[in-house]
Amino acid sequence: MDAKEIVTVMKDLEKAESDSQIIRLLTLLQTDVVPTEKVLRETKVGVTVNRLRSHANPEVGTLVKKIIKTWKDGVSQEKKKKAVSSAGSPAKSTTSTTTNERFVSKGPRTPKNDGVKVEIYENKTRNGSISAIYTALAMDSDEQPSKIFELVKDIEKQCFKAVNFTVDDTYRNKLRSLIMNLKNKNNPTLRRSILDHEIIPSKLVTMSAQELAPDSLKKEMEEIYKKNLFDAQGATENNSVTDRFECGKCKQRKVSYFQKQTRSADEPLTTFCKCENCGNRWKFS
Ligand SMILES: [Zn+2]
Repeated sequence: MDAKEIVTVMKDLEKAESDSQIIRLLTLLQTDVVPTEKVLRETKVGVTVNRLRSHANPEVGTLVKKIIKTWKDGVSQEKKKKAVSSAGSPAKSTTSTTTNERFVSKGPRTPKNDGVKVEIYENKTRNGSISAIYTALAMDSDEQPSKIFELVKDIEKQCFKAVNFTVDDTYRNKLRSLIMNLKNKNNPTLRRSILDHEIIPSKLVTMSAQELAPDSLKKEMEEIYKKNLFDAQGATENNSVTDRFECGKCKQRKVSYFQKQTRSADEPLTTFCKCENCGNRWKFS
């Protein structure tokens, strides 16, 4: 059953008047839906079916629980398969025209050790930023210096642009926090994503500290997100308070949040956060 057909059955289900009709439609979904994350996200059929969990007729409730369990297992298995196949496949080749030859460094990777000249601007602060970004980004990479340097120049340029082309405290703070994240030993994923062009510089400079955080948080986000495949509650502004997020301003962990699909259905959910202590608001996806 494709997404379109599923949506049709969902509509019938919402209009269904008798228990036997509901059971017939649920059974149809049970047998004909291949539960992939994509399909569940696109159609929100998991949310619709799950709503009938506490239906007055226990036969309906039991069937719903069975379906949801099967679909959850399906999504988990899909994820496992993906993890295995990506771990087993050779490193992704880049689309860049530069050589794919690995770089062997003589010491810790710094512009100096790699033979990269960072003095490209009149402004010492900007050159210093370029040097620091390079050292952070190259730390555990074997990419060629020229490739890293191109990215680094672009990252600095995007930061400079984001603060209205002025080297002031805003620029310094922005760079400081970005470099701190880039240097984080526990965050190889961030460096890899940038070097692989999965996060492009213009996007990178708009990302919040939460978005840049290491895998542990990303995993938690996946959990929340998975829950949203079957539970409508997360998608509404229920302002549940959690200690899961830290406020970037006051560092307290009293944050209320809700999630919304802001773009098309196959894009990730956006999480809107508000610090209950200082009122700071931010969002990420
Ligand atoms: Zn706060």
